[in-house]
Amino acid sequence: MSSPFARNPDLHCHSTVSDGTLAPAALAQRAHAHGVDLWALTDHDELGGLAEARQSAQSLGLRFVPGVEISISFAAQTVHIVALNIDATHPRLLDGLQQIRVGRDQRARDMAADLERHLGLTDVYAGALRHAGNPALLSRTHFARLLVEHGVCRQTHEVFSRYLTPGKPGYVEHEWARLDDALSWIRAAGGIAVIAHPGRYRFTDTEEWALLERFKSLGGQGIEVVTGSHTAAQARKYARIALELGFYASRGSDFHSPGESACDLGRLAPLPADLTPVWDLLH
Ligand code: AMP
Ligand code: MN
Ligand code: MN
Ligand code: MN
Repeated sequence: MSSPFARNPDLHCHSTVSDGTLAPAALAQRAHAHGVDLWALTDHDELGGLAEARQSAQSLGLRFVPGVEISISFAAQTVHIVALNIDATHPRLLDGLQQIRVGRDQRARDMAADLERHLGLTDVYAGALRHAGNPALLSRTHFARLLVEHGVCRQTHEVFSRYLTPGKPGYVEHEWARLDDALSWIRAAGGIAVIAHPGRYRFTDTEEWALLERFKSLGGQGIEVVTGSHTAAQARKYARIALELGFYASRGSDFHSPGESACDLGRLAPLPADLTPVWDLLH
């Protein structure tokens, strides 16, 4: 689908089909305008934006990689697995993601009820839906935008420090997909599995090691090293881990919105030169 070399790849971002604020076509234009030369759309648990993204990228001469960011549970935490270069028509992948979205909807209703109890607001579920481009994909981000609209917080990142996170109002424990199921869907759909933003999780060293080993034993090949979610120190840490464990390294902004995301499309540090880039696997 594409020659492997890339000068400015960005292999992680979100559209209005999940919790981004730009449509897939607008993201393609922004990526291209920022000099991205290999681009993946990776909406949460949803493939509905890929056709528009591919078409827009093609018309711009931008190499496109179809992707998805899958929510799983591991050792009582949520972990995200980015799948790259998937066959977006594969029934096992489609069915698995559909099941995740069903669970999301019930969780959103429970989150809404909890926020109503704590904040004295009404119609929180309907309010969050108003912020969502895709009613099948309600995320905490949509609730965060609603709380900003209500003046509860000034910015979405402030919402995540006071609400919607473990121990805070609006947080609902949730069982996402299993790691081994997600990896089996990705393998079936011919994709490359990548651990998203490993620096964001709150695992002990032992738990983190268990995740990485299990992921690798299930055919996982990549790990995000340079991402909008990592500090420079975290990028160094996961560069070392990529070398130690023989993972291909990925690079992606995790861009969601011009007004919210600290890291814009294509505005990332380069991968450390001693790593093997995950885009070497694309051909
Ligand atoms: P969900 O998949 O519904 O649990 O929502 C997760 C999404 O919430 C992530 O993909 C981010 O877009 C957003 N998010 C989580 N934590 C934060 C944070 N601290 N600041 C800003 N956005 C966050
Ligand atoms: Mn998100
Ligand atoms: Mn993520
Ligand atoms: Mn993401």
